[in-house]
Amino acid sequence: MTAKVIDGNALSKQLRAEVTTRAAALTARGHQPGLAVILVGEDPASAVYVRNKVKACEDSGLLSVFDKYEATLSEAALLARIAALNADPAIHGILVQMPLPKHIDSGKVIEAIATHKDVDGYSVLSAGELMAGLPGFRPCTPYGCMKLIESTGVSLKGKHAVVIGRSNTVGKPMALLLLQANATVTVCHSGTPDLAYHTRQADVVVAAVGRRNTLTGDMVKPGAVVIDVGINRNDEGKLCGDVDFASVSEVASHLTPVPGGVGPMTITMLLVNTVEAAERAATQADA
Ligand code: NAP
Repeated sequence: MTAKVIDGNALSKQLRAEVTTRAAALTARGHQPGLAVILVGEDPASAVYVRNKVKACEDSGLLSVFDKYEATLSEAALLARIAALNADPAIHGILVQMPLPKHIDSGKVIEAIATHKDVDGYSVLSAGELMAGLPGFRPCTPYGCMKLIESTGVSLKGKHAVVIGRSNTVGKPMALLLLQANATVTVCHSGTPDLAYHTRQADVVVAAVGRRNTLTGDMVKPGAVVIDVGINRNDEGKLCGDVDFASVSEVASHLTPVPGGVGPMTITMLLVNTVEAAERAATQADA
């Protein structure tokens, strides 16, 4: 079997076109969606991520407010800025780019963002909403993975899904979203003694580890859907995921590439969450 490659760029383009249409409709009603992006410090990778997020907003007709601060910014000043954005009706989503300088407590910062503007879905309240099946905001990367799985046409109902990784931002919310879609879910981690035992039984595997070649073809059930969240570098310095693409594509039915799979979906789902936040605010304002 040669796996069908799930094209994250194409799906992302399609979803962004929908975001653009929804944003235009809101703007026409006087409720242009607005995302505030905060960057503290000079981390070059963070600067690139933030630039991409701001550009994506502008391309889809969202208002973007970009606050760039020196690494010496105090925690109190950052919290005060978040409080102002929480109260600003033109802003529907607030994103603070991680990592923050060491003197700032990132947990405190995330919890300071109003839950109805937490479009990254990282706060404890957003995590609780996801766990309870309430309509909050889903963390963007696992939400994007769900869209990628959905795009294959394979129903998750009654399927066995194995998530490799249990981080608060990817693995755990991924498992909850799969559970919500009626899959039977197994979560593996660094303490799982025989990873292959679990993955070989899986109809769907989501790898979110951060170590290349974690999943190889001999660990995959024929016909499985495989989603590769990992971002790593190979010996030649090229981007690669957690999945050995060559061997897994011989066994899986569908597989995401790296780059061009999960990566483009993460920013797209941030836009989707922001438009959703703006639609909820507009409905309340117009009621
Ligand atoms: P993380 O916080 O480091 O979590 C990694 C998880 O993998 C942990 O739960 C760890 O288990 C588990 N793990 C480590 N070694 C393992 C092994 N040998 N077998 C099974 N599980 C193992 O990383 P993360 O933030 O979730 O991110 C995971 C990867 O996705 C990274 O490469 C990251 O760069 C990438 N990522 C990509 C996007 C995107 O947009 N494409 C977004 C976010 C993250 P323990 O809990 O036991 O330590």
